[in-house]
Amino acid sequence: MAWEAMVLLSGPRRKVLFARPERSGHPRESRSSGTVPRQRRRPFMWVKDRVKISVRTTPSNRNLAQLKAVSMTDADYMRLAIQAAWQGLEKGEMPFGACIIGKGQVVAVAHNSAKANVDTTAHAEVQAIREATRRVHALELTGCAIYSTCEPCPMCFTACVWARLGKIVYACRIDDAERAGIRQVPISSARMNQLGQSGVVLVGDLLREDSLKLFEAWRRGETRPPS
Ligand SMILES: [Zn+2]
Repeated sequence: MAWEAMVLLSGPRRKVLFARPERSGHPRESRSSGTVPRQRRRPFMWVKDRVKISVRTTPSNRNLAQLKAVSMTDADYMRLAIQAAWQGLEKGEMPFGACIIGKGQVVAVAHNSAKANVDTTAHAEVQAIREATRRVHALELTGCAIYSTCEPCPMCFTACVWARLGKIVYACRIDDAERAGIRQVPISSARMNQLGQSGVVLVGDLLREDSLKLFEAWRRGETRPPS
């Protein structure tokens, strides 16, 4: 059976994240003709040991089990988000980054892209959700967690709820962003969680000091981390 696979990154370091059998038949035509039962396209599934993937892989990432063996920590995920924020800052974006993790795997990494997209809603968390839902071809990211360099604004918190992200880990607090001179709607995620009875698990202050360097650099007009 031929398989499609979704990969993260390109080149030799890319990782296979999801796979599904290649589409066969034409579901819409089948449905309209009424002669052939409608075929639903199987959703992407997490790559299992035994699944043969028809994309190039490296010895270290042939399957999910191996990837799990080299599991990353919460701090590692946050560093990915911080790294993305620095990349965004270098491009002239606001200093925010986020990544989404599912089953120990990195599903999406993004930075604020408001300027590039001419879209004021293109916050890092929203961009990561957009990327992740595209990758998994699903509206909901149940079981996934988001790591953000700053406590999500109310818009992003709500986006996380709509995406059914069960856990939000953040570094800086909204107050930190305000103090740095970044306009905010200063409603904490804890308050949003309480008001909406959302039941999201919140973890704050992870690598807060590292993330604060982003705000300091932004204030000084710098775009690179201090050496
Ligand atoms: Zn936001």
